[in-house]
Amino acid sequence: MKIVPISLPTPFYIGPVNVYLIPEDPVTLIDTGPKTKEAVDTLRAALRANGLAVADIRRIVLTHAHEDHCGLARALRDEAKDAEVLVHGWETGHRAGRLEYDETRQLLVRAGVPPDEVEVMRRMYGGVREYADSLDEDHCGELTDEAELEFDTGVLQVVHTPGHTPGSCSFIRHADRTLIAGDCVLKRITPNPVLSPDPVDRSRRFRSLAEYLVSLARVRALAPTLVLGGHGDAVHDYEELFNRYLRAIRERQEQIIRIVSAKGASAWDVSRTRVLGVSEAVAHLDYAHSEGKLALEISDGREVYRKLSE
Ligand SMILES: [Zn+2]
Ligand SMILES: [Zn+2]
Repeated sequence: MKIVPISLPTPFYIGPVNVYLIPEDPVTLIDTGPKTKEAVDTLRAALRANGLAVADIRRIVLTHAHEDHCGLARALRDEAKDAEVLVHGWETGHRAGRLEYDETRQLLVRAGVPPDEVEVMRRMYGGVREYADSLDEDHCGELTDEAELEFDTGVLQVVHTPGHTPGSCSFIRHADRTLIAGDCVLKRITPNPVLSPDPVDRSRRFRSLAEYLVSLARVRALAPTLVLGGHGDAVHDYEELFNRYLRAIRERQEQIIRIVSAKGASAWDVSRTRVLGVSEAVAHLDYAHSEGKLALEISDGREVYRKLSE
């Protein structure tokens, strides 16, 4: 079973996205690229180079529903009549482009983001949403953990690897322990857990960093020999990357605890001082709190973290 990497251009800061073609029955595309002319033209050329056309695609599998990965899913599905689209059920919040406005707004306000900044972010997300057609429930089949995707000459097994988003999935070929990992494992950057409502209780926040650490450990237990990520080069030494990620996460946590220790801070305050995203600040504060390293109180509808009194 051949896995053909295809690099597609994106208009995003992260640069090109990797999608993966399995050019055998049923012809399958793992991720699709964003909804841009450049991406679809590049994809068509790559399919042609493999003796295929969009019409031959029978199955579209999404690692997660960010625009750079899922943007073309709807259009490709429509062109390849009756191609199946598969995505994990926990990805609902992201499926219709970015998260619904109200849910995101509540999460941002609780994280201490001022209203005018929430508005700036909303406009930004509005722009990003242009790069994906929304996928309704009835367009999608559901990926479930440990399910098998069968091909003529091989099998990929679904590994639910939440963290970057709640419904992020990876796919392993056990025969040679090759893992297709979406944005769960990226060679050059530590993936950023994105602020999301909890898929089970949408009034709560998804505990992205804690989930992510479990996913990284789970991938480690699979002992992959090759990891094909959503961006950048393939990873041959997962163990090295795993240790690097853990170190980076631990260092970041120490910095954040130092900031909070001074006089108490919201995720927004932390994101201001360290020039890191609000999502990342929230993820770290949640995690430090769950580890009992920080206290949390609600003040004026905002979550304020403090050093535990000794
Ligand atoms: Zn992503
Ligand atoms: Zn991505």
